Amino acid sequence: MRFSIPEVSGSVKIVVTVKLVPDTNAEKKIDPASKRLVRAGMETVLNPYDEYAIEGALKIKESLGGDTTVTIFSMAPAASKEVLRKALAMGADDAVFLTDAGLEGSDVWGTAFAMAQGLKKVGFDLVICGGLADDGSTGGVPGALAEYLGVPGFTNCRRVDVTGNTLKVQRETDSGYQVVTGAMPALVSVTMAIGEPRYASLKGIMGAKKKTIATLALADLGLDHAVGGDGAKTEVATIAAPPVREKARIVEAADGAAGAKVIFDLLKEKKLV
Ligand SMILES: Cc1cc2nc3c(=O)[nH]c(=O)nc-3n(C[C@H](O)[C@H](O)[C@H](O)COP(=O)(O)OP(=O)(O)OC[C@H]3O[C@@H](n4cnc5c(N)ncnc54)[C@H](O)[C@@H]3O)c2cc1C
Repeated sequence: MRFSIPEVSGSVKIVVTVKLVPDTNAEKKIDPASKRLVRAGMETVLNPYDEYAIEGALKIKESLGGDTTVTIFSMAPAASKEVLRKALAMGADDAVFLTDAGLEGSDVWGTAFAMAQGLKKVGFDLVICGGLADDGSTGGVPGALAEYLGVPGFTNCRRVDVTGNTLKVQRETDSGYQVVTGAMPALVSVTMAIGEPRYASLKGIMGAKKKTIATLALADLGLDHAVGGDGAKTEVATIAAPPVREKARIVEAADGAAGAKVIFDLLKEKKLV
């Protein structure tokens, strides 16, 4: 499936997917009935990992120059739309906000499916995702999105270079990195090694106020499958906190030898020696 294939370097349409998440430092609560995060009363911020994706996109735009553009794409509840101004202040050109009450309760499948249809409407040469959402944390969306878009997906990228319609990425692995090449249109997800996200300048903050945030709703997508809670293919069965660790036992011993004996006896009791 092809969308808009750039023939020359300098006219690449980059779309960065940005999730809007509850303040990463705030104490989180789960609603026991819905088993979902309680978002009411929490400040909403850009998913921190997606700020790296924005940085990666802006770097590509700077290296290519010309007509290259960076569009932000987010699917989130309506009330959080203006949070996207921060991404625009960092240097993105415009944003598209997919929102609809019918999307509420979407699992990874529904999210990726709906986002893919939205991205097809927007058009792209290169989609850049963060590697993980700070709240949902499945890391499943980028791969599913590449599949629904019908484009190659390059995950865990620490570096992305674009020449013409060719992509050359460095994929982080446990022991180093792989260099992988492919053609656009494509999707990449990036790691934090892509570069520290830039701060928005005062000029950027002022300019962001005038940039466009277009809105898409479910009716604009023409979906042939249910999404939201009704279309979810997964269900959170239970949510549990990890078991509380036993308190440490503090032993005061007269000297080193006595201390060593206490430790030895304890290890013996636990059948570890
Ligand atoms: C009305 C409405 C209500 C929603 N309520 C919730 C909710 O209560 N809790 C919740 O976690 N999610 C909610 N979402 C968003 C959606 O359901 C989740 O994004 C989805 O489950 C993603 O899973 P994840 O967090 O594990 O993403 P991951 O797979 O961990 O994310 C990896 C990367 O994929 C991209 N990505 C993921 N989700 C989005 C997104 N929504 N928009 C743009 N880029 C994205 C980002 O680049 C991210 O770095 C809601 C959406 C709408 C429209």
